[in-house]
Amino acid sequence: MATGGGHSKLEEVMSVVGVPVMTKRSFIQTVGEVWKKELLESMTKAGMEEKRLAEENGEYYQEIPAITVIVDGGWSKRSHKHSYNANSGVGIIIGKRTRKLLYVGVRNKYCHACATNIPKDKHVCFKNWNRSSSEMEADIILEGFLEAEKVHGVRYMSFVGDGDSSVYPTLVQNVPVWGQAIKKLECANHTCKCYRGALERLVQENSSYKGSGGLTQKMRKRLVSAARSAIRMRSMQENKKEALKKLKHDLQNGPLHCFGFHEKCSSDFCKSAKEKIQQQTTISSLASSPATSTEVCSPTSSSSSADSFPSSPDRSLPENDDTGFLGKYCVIEIYSTLYYRMGIRVWSMS
Ligand SMILES: [Zn+2]
Ligand SMILES: [Zn+2]
Repeated sequence: MATGGGHSKLEEVMSVVGVPVMTKRSFIQTVGEVWKKELLESMTKAGMEEKRLAEENGEYYQEIPAITVIVDGGWSKRSHKHSYNANSGVGIIIGKRTRKLLYVGVRNKYCHACATNIPKDKHVCFKNWNRSSSEMEADIILEGFLEAEKVHGVRYMSFVGDGDSSVYPTLVQNVPVWGQAIKKLECANHTCKCYRGALERLVQENSSYKGSGGLTQKMRKRLVSAARSAIRMRSMQENKKEALKKLKHDLQNGPLHCFGFHEKCSSDFCKSAKEKIQQQTTISSLASSPATSTEVCSPTSSSSSADSFPSSPDRSLPENDDTGFLGKYCVIEIYSTLYYRMGIRVWSMS
């Protein structure tokens, strides 16, 4: 019940243990009210904690404590990126330091009581939205931002959120006084989801990239996983400026690395590059015995020297399927479609 399952969930659980349940009306009137009170109290407490931590760390904007929050939205049906017609949407704001809920809002396009012609004054109406479902999230989050100072005495000066949502422009335009100064931080999960989505689109539009040595499903997973690993690894480094520089390199170099071209890989990120450096050191110290030099890269790397990598792609694919070439071609295609996008994401993190 702590997850907000409601009356029907309670009925389901209680039927298993054979205990009779209160009616829906008394559930809403008693449990609902208690929950609402508890929720408001816990959000107020979380706000106070966030405020205290901001003050302790000396983080202010125009002398008001400033904090970073995490925002996201959800709908009553899965509609990410295809259909936007959910009848109900929820939006939440969580404090980044405490990981506790600071605000929750709901938008409903449908009310069962209204739909069955029960007059407005005879029921608690939950319908509060007439506009499109895709606008719900931004509207809820905006409401949370607008009441931040009044309710919690803080300003949400930066937030972690979905990469392609309309939340950011809505906040910048509509939050008075400090809206223009709000910063957006990219959510690593959403970034990787967008990257995967872009790769899927790439193969959908060009089925010839799919074959062996090209953008197979395994390769698409690997590319995203390399980006995720780079983000995870760099986020743990102390020197943020240096980490950001390295992350940018790792993300740009990711496709090359996955297709077996390790010339430009960071030695702390890529095993092959690390081994190569170790080997070069060994070779230089044992310069008299060059026979120790063996190829260290993965199978596709037999044709991986930098000079064999075409700098400007030939737009026509070869007639007979040369896997090595297809791999290189895919790297260039990923670059031209994703480089700019990923680059922007990396810079906006600074
Ligand atoms: Zn109603
Ligand atoms: Zn590598």
